[in-house]
Amino acid sequence: MTEELLIKNAVVFDPINGVRGERKDLCIRDGKIVASVRNPKVIDAGGRVVMPGGVDVHAHIAGGKVNSGRLMRPEDGRKGIEPKTKVCRVQSGYSVPNTFATGYRYAKMGYTFVMEPAMPPLLARHTHEELIDTPILDNAALPLIDNNWMTFDYVKSGDIDHLAAYIAWMIKATKGYGIKIVNPGGTEAWGWGKNCDLHDPVPFFDITPADIVKALAKANEKYAMPHSIHVHTNMLGHPGNFETTLATLDLVKGIKAAKNRPVLHCTHTQFHSYGGTSWKDFESKANAIANYVNNNTHVSIDIGQIILGDTTTMTADGPMEYSLYQITGRKWTNCDVELETGSGITPFLYSGKVGVHTIQWTIGQELALLIKDPWKLALTTDHPNAGPFIGYPIVISTLMSKKRRDEIAKEVSPAIYDKSSLPSIDRELDFYEIAIITRGATAKILGLQEHGKGHLGLGADADIAIYDLSPEERDAGKIQRAFLNTKYTIKGGQIVVKDGEVVAAPAGKTFFVTPECDQKLFDEMLVNLKQKFENYYSVTYNNYAVQDVYLPHPYEIKAPMVA
Ligand SMILES: [Zn+2]
Repeated sequence: MTEELLIKNAVVFDPINGVRGERKDLCIRDGKIVASVRNPKVIDAGGRVVMPGGVDVHAHIAGGKVNSGRLMRPEDGRKGIEPKTKVCRVQSGYSVPNTFATGYRYAKMGYTFVMEPAMPPLLARHTHEELIDTPILDNAALPLIDNNWMTFDYVKSGDIDHLAAYIAWMIKATKGYGIKIVNPGGTEAWGWGKNCDLHDPVPFFDITPADIVKALAKANEKYAMPHSIHVHTNMLGHPGNFETTLATLDLVKGIKAAKNRPVLHCTHTQFHSYGGTSWKDFESKANAIANYVNNNTHVSIDIGQIILGDTTTMTADGPMEYSLYQITGRKWTNCDVELETGSGITPFLYSGKVGVHTIQWTIGQELALLIKDPWKLALTTDHPNAGPFIGYPIVISTLMSKKRRDEIAKEVSPAIYDKSSLPSIDRELDFYEIAIITRGATAKILGLQEHGKGHLGLGADADIAIYDLSPEERDAGKIQRAFLNTKYTIKGGQIVVKDGEVVAAPAGKTFFVTPECDQKLFDEMLVNLKQKFENYYSVTYNNYAVQDVYLPHPYEIKAPMVA
């Protein structure tokens, strides 16, 4: 059966195709954008703002620690409860919503793709089980490969070829999308109650985090991988960490990307842009980070904007979560994943009454406004670490309105806000730039634009958001409300949200990458890997890999070897 849709009178913002608020009709057949249709169902967009479906580069929505967060915080689960409807299953949770709520709430904001950015390899099945359970959204997950004993051994011997073979195995075995790095070496050190800065030795391995980042970047570029290495740098959340961040970005500067994209994505950069020597002289170094990004082409970032209010922090950065717990004294949990990684979780309240939180809030805004080229930038809140993803419309409204930012000064510590550089920044993003940082750039950073995501060119997936906004609208309140609940969200040519209500909840696709490694290197690497299983792992080699049944709607991207 051929399903046809015609969206008339759309004012389209499609940055990948250079479409900047043009009045157009969009034709859809069999879930794709096509040139013409014969007998379509017609939607009149009535001159409203229309964008490709949103693409989120970084939100912790599925897997072991997300689920532990839900179990640990029944008080969060009681927020946001909505009963089942004919279409929707029951929803619960605010900062750690259940899988159903995650899919519906993203779809209502016009998002159709989300990257789960921290999959512990040994627990990949759980991550995929939750992704299956998350309706509507297309998805992918990045396995954590940076605190791993196999990785460490190859980094130590400087053997990038076999490291690349190991990465190929790991990404295939976990049905993952690329390489995630979280506090390289630091999570392993945390097993001994320690942490690592960029040039500190990792206990018992005689390597440094800098060695790990460089080696993984080189190994990634052995293949035509869609995405660069995705890096949460060392010393997250520590005053003075901006120097570590800049040094990390500079480490990979000379490495040639295998595709037309950056070689390093620096995630939730707000948490890594801190000056000062303690919380007493804590200050923003957003300017230094923005300058670096402005003057270099090998880096992309996402902002990790703070949303004021209560949330649940969760990360593979175990020592960081322990530091937070020491600050707040609230409940805390911590986990070690055998030879691979670890994690920690603790609730956190970002309060406008606290000076440090006010500075954190301004840093996210400064990064987004001081980085000149929006194609290097992605909007995130590191959901749920800096705040839940349903805060995105708030962030969009503040980035689009200087007046709204100044109003926020009343909700935060005004003296500290006034001392920051933010009041002196007049820049206001327009709808085109918002479309870049929420779909165009994010799809390109993830290498998804070649696979029909983040744009509305012929042949693209018909993932479309129609916002109840005139392209002239500048009222921050109206903008915020419209970005929270679309007029229509269309996913793969099917209307999934109408007037802010979910009207259909089809299953999404899981994108995964197959790095195609030279067989000889692969076989040589397997000898070492099987030894690790023999000696240390609690599971056998044959039981490790995620079976195809865990991806009922798979989308494979092959990454041939290039070097
Ligand atoms: Zn994160």
